[in-house]
Amino acid sequence: MTDMAEVYARACAVIPGGVSSPVRAFGSVGGTPVFLASASGPHVVDVFGRRYVDLVCSWGPALLGHAHPEVVAAVTDAAARGLSFGAPTTAEVELAELIRGRVPSAEKVRFTSTGTEATMTAIRVARGATGRDVIVKFAGCYHGHSDALLAAAGSGVATAGLPGSAGVTRAAASDTLVLPYNDVAALEAAFAERGDDIACVITEAAPANMGVVPPAPGFNAAIRALTSAHGALMISDEVLTGFRVGPAGWWGLESDEAAGWTPDLVTFGKVVGGGMPLAALGGPAALMDLLAPLGPVYQAGTLSGNPLATAAGIATLRLADDAVYAHVDRVSAELQDEVAAALDAAGVAHRVQRAGNLFSVFFGEHAAGEGVANYAAAQRQEAFRYTAFFHAMLDAGVALPPSVYEAWFLSSAHDDAAMGRIAAALPAAARAAAS
Ligand code: PLP
Repeated sequence: MTDMAEVYARACAVIPGGVSSPVRAFGSVGGTPVFLASASGPHVVDVFGRRYVDLVCSWGPALLGHAHPEVVAAVTDAAARGLSFGAPTTAEVELAELIRGRVPSAEKVRFTSTGTEATMTAIRVARGATGRDVIVKFAGCYHGHSDALLAAAGSGVATAGLPGSAGVTRAAASDTLVLPYNDVAALEAAFAERGDDIACVITEAAPANMGVVPPAPGFNAAIRALTSAHGALMISDEVLTGFRVGPAGWWGLESDEAAGWTPDLVTFGKVVGGGMPLAALGGPAALMDLLAPLGPVYQAGTLSGNPLATAAGIATLRLADDAVYAHVDRVSAELQDEVAAALDAAGVAHRVQRAGNLFSVFFGEHAAGEGVANYAAAQRQEAFRYTAFFHAMLDAGVALPPSVYEAWFLSSAHDDAAMGRIAAALPAAARAAAS
C-alpha cells in the first residue's frame, strides 16, 4: 500500500468505519485516520514511518510517554510467566494496595478490563446498596458505553451528533436522569422530586469529554451533600483524571480545599493500567463487599486483573512520582500559554479551559466571553475552526485529538524537543483556524 487512504479503505472493508472505537475515525475533523505502527516517548509513528509528536497519549494512559522502558520490561517479564491465569494473583493485591495508598476511600478495589465496566459495576453496586433504580448523570459527561450511561454523553457521541444511541431501550434510558453540569439548582430539584428513587449521582470528577469543563468551586461538594442527605451514593468517575492530574487524581487536587468531598465509589481506568486493558472501582468495604462472591451484586471478567495489565499498572504507578506530575503540569501550562498566544495573534476568539494538567480549546466569541460551564455551552462553540487547526497541526507532525470535544494529553516524556516542535507548528495552525 502506498498511501493512508488505501490503508483506510482496506480497513473499512473489514471493520466498521475502519476503526475499533468511533472517535478514531476522524469523523468530526474529516480526512483519513492515521494508522499507527509504533510509539515511543512523546511520539507516535505511522505505518509509513512518519513521526508525530503525540497529544493524545492513547486518550490518557500514557502518562509516562509511550513504551516507557521500565513499564515494557515489567510487561515482558509478566508475559514470560504466562498471559492469563483466570486465578487470583498477588500482583492484583499489590496494585489494589497502591491505589488505596493514593486514594484511601478506595478501601477495597475490584478490577475490570475497561472503564465502561468499572462505571457500569459502580452503578450496579449503587442500585444493589440502595434498592433504588434511578441514576443521575450530567449531560456531556462520558462514563463509557453501557446502556444506562449512554444518554447525552460527550466525546464520541457528541462528535457524532447522536442524542444517545440506537439499540438502547427506552427502559434502560428511562431510569437515567440527565441534568446540566455545574447546576446545583437542577440537582436540588431532581432530589426534591425523585429523591427516594435516586440510587446515585455519577459524575466525572472534572469533566473532560465535552472539552474540559472544570467543576465550579463547591460543585462536587454539593453533589456529596445532596446525595448524603437523600441516602443516595456519589460515584466519582476518575477513569480519565485518576492518577493523571495528580497522584490522587482530581479528588486529591480538591480534597485540600474547604469544599473537600469524598465519594462513595470511585472509578479508575487509563493511567491505572499503564496502557494495558485495566480499570477499577473502589470504595469502602461495606459497599465493595456487596460484590460477588461476598454479596449479591454480580460482576465478573475472564481477563479481569490480567497479569500483564496489573504489571503495567504497578510499574506505572510506582514511576508516577511527584516529579512526573510536576513535569506534566509544567509542559501543560506552557502549551496552554502558547496555544492562547498563537490564537490571539491570529485573531481567533477562543478560551483555553483547564482542569489540572488537562486542557482543551473552545472556539468562538461565545466561549471566549462567558466560558463553558456545561454541555450546552460546549456545543455553541465554533467547532469548525478546530478542523482547520487540527489538520494544520497534523501536517506539521503534531497529532492532536481528532475532536474538539477531547482533552489534550501530555506526558512526562514530552521534552523540550517535542514541545519545540509543537510550538513551531502553532502559528500556522492558528492562522488556519482564523479562515
Ligand atoms: N469514564 C470516563 C470519564 C472516560 O473518559 C472513559 C473513556 O474515555 C470511560 C469512563 C470509559 O472507559 P473505557 O473506554 O476504558 O471503557
